[in-house]
Formats: sequence, structure tokens, C-alpha cells
Amino acid sequence: MAVAQQVFLRDAMRKLNLTRDMFSARIGVKRRALDSWLLPEPSHDFRVMPEVVRRFVTEIVENEALLEKYSDAAPRRGSLRDRIAINDKHQLLSVDQFTRDSVEELFYIADIMQPIARRQKVSRVLEGAVLGNLFFEASTRTRVSFGAAFCRLGGSVCDTTGFTFSSMAKGESIYDTSRVMGGYVDAMVIRHPEQGSVAEFAAATNIPVVNGGDGSGEHPSQALLDLYTILTEFSRLGKLLDGAHIAVVGDLKYGRTVHSLVKLLALYRGLKFTLVSPKGLEMPTEIIEAVAQQGNHVIEQTNNLEQGITGADVIYATRVQKERLQSEQIRGYGPEFQINAAMIERFATPDTIIMHPLPRDSRPMANDLSVDLNKDPRLAIFRQTDNGIPIRMAIFAVLMGVETLVQHSMRDVTWSPPTHIGPDDAIFHGMD
Ligand code: ASP
Repeated sequence: MAVAQQVFLRDAMRKLNLTRDMFSARIGVKRRALDSWLLPEPSHDFRVMPEVVRRFVTEIVENEALLEKYSDAAPRRGSLRDRIAINDKHQLLSVDQFTRDSVEELFYIADIMQPIARRQKVSRVLEGAVLGNLFFEASTRTRVSFGAAFCRLGGSVCDTTGFTFSSMAKGESIYDTSRVMGGYVDAMVIRHPEQGSVAEFAAATNIPVVNGGDGSGEHPSQALLDLYTILTEFSRLGKLLDGAHIAVVGDLKYGRTVHSLVKLLALYRGLKFTLVSPKGLEMPTEIIEAVAQQGNHVIEQTNNLEQGITGADVIYATRVQKERLQSEQIRGYGPEFQINAAMIERFATPDTIIMHPLPRDSRPMANDLSVDLNKDPRLAIFRQTDNGIPIRMAIFAVLMGVETLVQHSMRDVTWSPPTHIGPDDAIFHGMD
């Protein structure tokens, strides 16, 4: 069975690095026709792409791959899970494991997962497998979405939450906990308050381990879903990520999501990063240096929110990580630091997308991303959270080596999910 036409076309555009306008010109079709082929199948305006177009696009992509092969670019070798492995182990600990090529291959697999994530199809490729979801620090969406992703592939989940009720509170070492759990489950997702701790868990077992957030270190699955969201939004808006302006705002010192995200974005070329933080919460130097070493990026740091977000293609806001503050006297952002409707009206563009890893602190004194933007279609936060499912499904499928089985395993769902999940969802939500 060939992959769905939306998956096929999105993959081709990513591989060729073309916007919808450029791609439709390249294959000689009207942009309107391409847009209708790119819709998910159940959508009203969906049209079937002629078979000859599929053949033509396949040829273009294959020719491009041949050209690359004979240039200096590194050729692809082996499966994705082997290419991202650490010491031959199938783990996801850091975004440093990815190249632009491998990250886009993961997104191709995430695209295949979309009909399952959107509850049109079911799959049981992980039937019999058990996930250990070990969260030693607060979490709602990461824990539940990893669990739901595993279940939607047919697996089952065992959860544990909090440090107080774990054996580590009795003095058990990370090594012992990890080795014991490895005997009970087939994969683990770990969240832990200490940077580097998830790598310690991973060193003590040979089953797949995923970093669900290690202190102020990294949060790779969040960064992957953020990048996937940006690329999906940019595709709809007709933009390329290369050359874009990304404003990252807030607690850049302790916010692990932005540590992972800027490193992942740095795989693209010619980005302008404006790193906007209150004094004392600046991005760590080693991350800025890692980004500066590649891709011809421009990096600006500022404490002035208005200046930092002006004209940005993406504004990525974050919460003050109060649980990690040390000597800093910060209780929340000052009002001059809040991203709200008035601020967006003055300094953003009609195409700016506004993101946040969530949770946003909605208490008034926190001055986190304002709820007055909830009906603004530029607010992409719930498109981000929805994308957490296909991305986490793709991560499991790759780490467990079943990604090629998913396409053939899909069956129709037996129940009727609502067509729109959120009452305030934008009209295009779930359509691209
Ligand atoms: N949920 C994200 C994290 O676990 C962001 C946050 O908590 O502010 O890092």
C-alpha cells in the first residue's frame, strides 16, 4: 500500500526544501490543486492527485537524491534508529543525536502516524509491549502524551509519578531502579529533576530510554514536536525555515525546552535568533556557542521584549521555571514582559506564529503568555500539543523498530470522534 498522498507530498517538499508555491511551479500544477491534494483525506476539499503526478514527483526526488549522493554531502546509511543510536543503544536523550536529514525522516514517520493520532485509524504494531512511564517531577502533557502515543500503537503503559513515593526516596540508586525497571517493561520514558540523570538511567539498561526532561538539561521530544509544528505551519503559510526569524522569550536559563529547540533549529540555515530574557535568565553560553558554530545563524540577545519580537516569524514564549531558580529573586515576569493581544497587535506580523511548550502560568502576577490570545489563529499552542502524539508515536516506532509496519497495520476506528477537538480551534487546525 502506497503512503497517503499528504504524507508523500509533505515528504517531497521537505526533501526538496520548497514552499508550496515553489513546489507547484516546479511540478507544473496550480497552487490551488496542490493545496487540495495536501489536505487530509476525510476533509471536504480533498482531491485525489493523478497517479502521473506521483510518478513525476518520485522521479524529481530520486534525481535530487542522486545529485546529493555525488556531491560531498554525507550519504544516508542504515535505518533511522541505527543512525540516531548512542553507543549502539536505541535511546533518545538529546537533540544532538539528530541531523537535518534524520530529523526530517522522523517527521515523515510522524506524518504517517497522523490518521491514528487524529483518531481515524487504529494500529496494534506494539501489541504486547509495555512502557514504563517514570516521572520523578511534575508533568501532565508529556507523561500522558507519551502514554497515549504508546497505547495508540497497541502497547500498554505502567506509570509512576513523583519522587516521594518512589524507591529512590529510600536511597535507591538510579542504576538499581533502571535495571529493575528494565526487567519489567520494554521501553522507558524518564523525567527527573537533575540534569544528566536520564543518561544515567539509560546507561544502566539496554531497553529503549527516552528523556522526558532532565532538570534544566534537555527535553528532546518537546523540541521535535515544536520543530514539526513550525515546519507544518510554515508549509501552510508558504514559508521556508531557512532564513526565518525566531524569537525565543522568557526563562532561557532554566527552560530545557528552549535549550533543545534552539540546537535543533540550528540544523537549518541562516536563521535569525533573538533570545529575549529578563536579566539573570539568559540562555547558557555553551548553547549559544553550539548554535553559533553552524548554519550561518545570527544570534541577538536582548532584555527588550518589543525589540526582540518585532517582525519575528515565530515567537516562542516560556514560563519562569520557578522550581529551578537558585539565587535569582524572580517571582514572575514584569508586566512589560508579557506577550498579550496588544503586544502582538503592535509588534507581530499577520503570519507570526505564537508558541509555548505549556503549561503557561495563568495566574495574574506571572505575566506569562496571555489567555487574551486564545481566539487568535496565530496562537499555535494547541496545534503544538496535538502534534505531541504523532511525534511521540514516531519516536517509539523508530526506537522499537516497527516504523515500516505501521502503514500496513492501520484499520478504521470503530467509534466516532468529534471533527474538532477544541471549541476555539482555528479553521485550519488539523488540516495541514
Ligand atoms: N513542560 C515543559 C517542561 O517540562 C515546560 C515547562 O514546564 O515550563 O520543561
